[in-house]
Amino acid sequence: MSALAPWLQAPLAQALALPRAHAVLLSSLPGLGAFAAGQALAQAWLCEAGDGSRPACGHCPACHLFAQRSHPDAHWLLPALLRVQLGWQEPEAEGKAKPSQEIRVDEVRAMLGFAQATRGRSRGKVVLIHPAEALNTVAANALLKTLEEPGGSLRFVLVSEAPAALLPTIRSRCQTVPLGLPEPAAAATWLCAERPTLTPMDAAALLRAAGGRPQQVLDWLERGLTAPQLAGFPRAVARADLGDFSTWKPAALIDLLQRLAADLLRVCAGAAPQYFAADQLPKARHSAPLQAWSAQLRAAQRKADHPLQWPLWLEALGVQAQQALKLACRSGP
Ligand SMILES: [Zn+2]
Repeated sequence: MSALAPWLQAPLAQALALPRAHAVLLSSLPGLGAFAAGQALAQAWLCEAGDGSRPACGHCPACHLFAQRSHPDAHWLLPALLRVQLGWQEPEAEGKAKPSQEIRVDEVRAMLGFAQATRGRSRGKVVLIHPAEALNTVAANALLKTLEEPGGSLRFVLVSEAPAALLPTIRSRCQTVPLGLPEPAAAATWLCAERPTLTPMDAAALLRAAGGRPQQVLDWLERGLTAPQLAGFPRAVARADLGDFSTWKPAALIDLLQRLAADLLRVCAGAAPQYFAADQLPKARHSAPLQAWSAQLRAAQRKADHPLQWPLWLEALGVQAQQALKLACRSGP
């Protein structure tokens, strides 16, 4: 397992300082790598070199088993789609249902079976739930009783990048540890260490566009985004030219379009843009078309996980964006 990113270390220490917490909720913005912090916490609780109050040693038999995901006292409760994306599970055979992006009640029941079985090693048992907001209502309700009184030496780590979407009954049963944004300079230094070909200036521009979230930048880089491409994004959108993004997940592209729309609205209101440099943005004069476009993007984001015809949809998004920018930048009234 690679070293935990620096901005995750303080929250991990804070969570480890809650010795009697039977359920810890790591409450994060998206794009900070919160899952890694959750894994580090679960591993530290199971590590046999310490007493569960320090980060995992990384060398003991328990740490090795955990890293291979074969520790008998660790259980990961993740949506099937995420397990497939992580390469932990084969996609379903042709013709079967698509892997779910929800954590379903049968998966919670399987976890409860794990919880009731006798434990295999010495440090108790840990269930890691990520992302906790993926628990559908039935699954969340099936979890409540055990989450309140896990019994024995069972502990829960819940990771959420949308804590407001959690049922209050789930939130109230956990001790919450917030994960905050890193300092921009520290985040840029970390990014340049992770991606040695990245210049500090490019790292800063990417971080700015990502709202200061370094893991988000890494995800973009893995999808092939470069800093010059990002700088040219507003102009490419104005040309309805989204071809570079055909391999992106719809949600990620719509997210970037939403940032652009938000910046153009700021410029319209006489404020400084937040995500892009001012000189990269077209001169928007009218906010109404941008507000309408923002609403269209929000609607698109809601169905982004079910893209039926992504190439066609990509084209439609481009045309929609071009139209909005044309109307927003027109010189007349
Ligand atoms: Zn260890």
